[in-house]
Amino acid sequence: METIETDVVIVGGGPAGCSCALYTSRADLKTVILDKNPSVGALAITHQIANYPGVSSEMSGDALLGIMRDQAIQYGADYRRAQVFGIDVNPEWKTVFTPEGTFKARALVVATGAMGRPASFKGEAEFLGKGVSYCATCDGAFYRGREVAVVGVNKEAMEEAQVLTKFASTVHWITSNDPKDDDLIAKELMNHSNVKHWSKARLMQIKGDEMGVNEIVIKDRSQDSLQNLKLEGVFVYMSGSKPITDFLGEQVAFKEDGGVLVDDFMSTTAEGVWAIGDIRNTPFKQAVVAASDGCIAAMAIDRYLNSRKSIRVDWVHA
Ligand SMILES: Cc1cc2nc3c(=O)[nH]c(=O)nc-3n(C[C@H](O)[C@H](O)[C@H](O)COP(=O)(O)OP(=O)(O)OC[C@H]3O[C@@H](n4cnc5c(N)ncnc54)[C@H](O)[C@@H]3O)c2cc1C
Repeated sequence: METIETDVVIVGGGPAGCSCALYTSRADLKTVILDKNPSVGALAITHQIANYPGVSSEMSGDALLGIMRDQAIQYGADYRRAQVFGIDVNPEWKTVFTPEGTFKARALVVATGAMGRPASFKGEAEFLGKGVSYCATCDGAFYRGREVAVVGVNKEAMEEAQVLTKFASTVHWITSNDPKDDDLIAKELMNHSNVKHWSKARLMQIKGDEMGVNEIVIKDRSQDSLQNLKLEGVFVYMSGSKPITDFLGEQVAFKEDGGVLVDDFMSTTAEGVWAIGDIRNTPFKQAVVAASDGCIAAMAIDRYLNSRKSIRVDWVHA
């Protein structure tokens, strides 16, 4: 099996990884991006990306990601399909293991996102991007004047349901347990006139057709009966999104919420290893935030590998 040596290896070819590669390549750093599948990341499955600055609001996430990837390749990045299953963060060389070969780099960037929660409801995977969403901040405006459901009782679910109250005619909030009595966010949410709380209820199925979601089936535990709700959007927050970090072992430190711990320059606790995008479990998971992380890490890597005292800005073309 081949072993490839390079300056920078980036694990994950989403907006975070591609933006980082664009900057490291432009800084003349030999860069390899390893991505297991360009169609499965959060941006790749986004049906329509209406809030990325500078691109048409009609554009799909997949199309935007294709442009980012092509741009990184155009500047010299070596993009390869490979699933990373392990790393070794030796101080001198960072080693990345894949079934296709081993990669050794002086700097390693992890950017595998937070799509680690498998779809668990009947119809969830089928209608993802066609009425099923994990991001009200991203998709809420598509549901102006329509009925939607939010599934989950965690903080993320409640905050995202708050966002939806601004747009939807009715937000059906479906929770298998009651929120705690002293939970102020829950109280505030239930005070909205357009929120209908279905307590002790379970989502059984998401139904729809070629146009997308049109109905859900819930089971009310107190009545032990099935109920059908006609609606167009289902926002699922069962265990929140889960950063994909299994291949890291315990070689970097994590935050309590499972995201990789970084400093202002996106450096992890392991020297020469950076973490960018949703893998950090950022409070605002947005493509533009992930891309910005990529830029910050790339400039810090340039400084680190070239022992510069200061960051060299990308727009000085001397
Ligand atoms: C349904 C949905 C809709 C959204 N809508 C919007 C929106 O409208 N606007 C917006 O700004 N944001 C939106 N977001 C959020 C946005 O897509 C994410 O914040 C952003 O894509 C995160 O970028 P990332 O590069 O960190 O991760 P991702 O985009 O998830 O990319 C991670 C990449 O890592 C790769 N990978 C994973 N594991 C491995 C491994 N072991 N080895 C190699 N490669 C690996 C994956 O194949 C993937 O390509 C949405 C998210 C979702 C889920």
